[in-house]
Amino acid sequence: MSTVSLVRFADPRASVIEAMRLAGAEATTVPGASVLVKPNLHGGHGHTSARVIEGVCRWAREQGAARVVVGDGPFWSCPAEQARQYFRQAGVYAAAEASGAEVVNFHEQPYRTIPTNDPALPDQIGLSDLLFQADVVVNVPILKTHFNTLVTLGIKNLKGCLRPKDKKRFHEMELNAALVGLAKIAAPRVTVTVLDATTAVEGLGPAAGTEVGMGLIAASRDLVAADSVGCFLAGIEPGEVRIIRDCAQAGLGEMDLGRIEVLGEDPLAHRRRFRRPNEEVAEQFPDLEIVTDGACSACVMNLFEALALIRQEGQTVSVPAVAIGGKGRIWAGLTVGACTRDMGAEGQHLPGCPPSTAEIREALRN
Ligand code: SF4
Repeated sequence: MSTVSLVRFADPRASVIEAMRLAGAEATTVPGASVLVKPNLHGGHGHTSARVIEGVCRWAREQGAARVVVGDGPFWSCPAEQARQYFRQAGVYAAAEASGAEVVNFHEQPYRTIPTNDPALPDQIGLSDLLFQADVVVNVPILKTHFNTLVTLGIKNLKGCLRPKDKKRFHEMELNAALVGLAKIAAPRVTVTVLDATTAVEGLGPAAGTEVGMGLIAASRDLVAADSVGCFLAGIEPGEVRIIRDCAQAGLGEMDLGRIEVLGEDPLAHRRRFRRPNEEVAEQFPDLEIVTDGACSACVMNLFEALALIRQEGQTVSVPAVAIGGKGRIWAGLTVGACTRDMGAEGQHLPGCPPSTAEIREALRN
């Protein structure tokens, strides 16, 4: 039986302390410990709230931590100065200052090279050395839908620990399998997961979704159980999410809601059905056929972001179909990316590997 706490988020300090207490997290740290707080600061819209980060740092300090570091690595090509601006705008520096913590961009710190021996992963991956140096690792994801993995929660949040070139490679590989391979290596380093569901994201997540105010946080020493309760709150069965299912099967935690005790708030009272990325696209572009068979997640991400931008601008697409990934077929419309050169019988082809969001947006509109 695993335990997940579920608490209304009111005051950063008191709410996190209560969630940690119910989750039995005090037993995981000792005075003098070095604590790594790993939020989701991916570089775009929909990041972990600074107030939740502050609460976790305050909790660590009150447990007697000697050093508290808030660390993440944004998207793989994010320049250091842009990352600093992003952290500042997200309120992370202010949260750390208020709670006696430091902020680091993993991309500017050493990575530890790990041989993998896993066909789902590159032969070697680089993970932030801080993940291994810390005595206590608090994983602090935000609850969001995601068009590659359905949801992004604690398991997916571990991807931020990768060195930039491995993040890029993950998007060229089978992303779900790679994330499970990564979790097998990194999840044992995670001490506690604190799920930020203060303001969640539904629809075209991770970067183009819609905010959902929930006012909750959850905490657990079981990463998979925390993600499973997050799914429940979003109206998604944990077993629908391949990375959760595969991590549970690999013995990394519990996904069976019947074997997870939730302490604090009743999750049923807060459950709602999140709009899923594919539903959002189908509703917003009902006449557009989309074929993504065999596509790398980098291309899927850019296509969905392009569609979200077109929608935000009040524009529409000018093609009946769009195909990426090279394994399907369309008869007219737009084929996107180098591997789709032979997919369309007629129509327009956009080269690139992957083409950028801006290039796809232009091609879809014109
Ligand atoms: S063009 Fe094809 S191979 Fe290149 S990123 Fe897109 S889907 Fe992958």
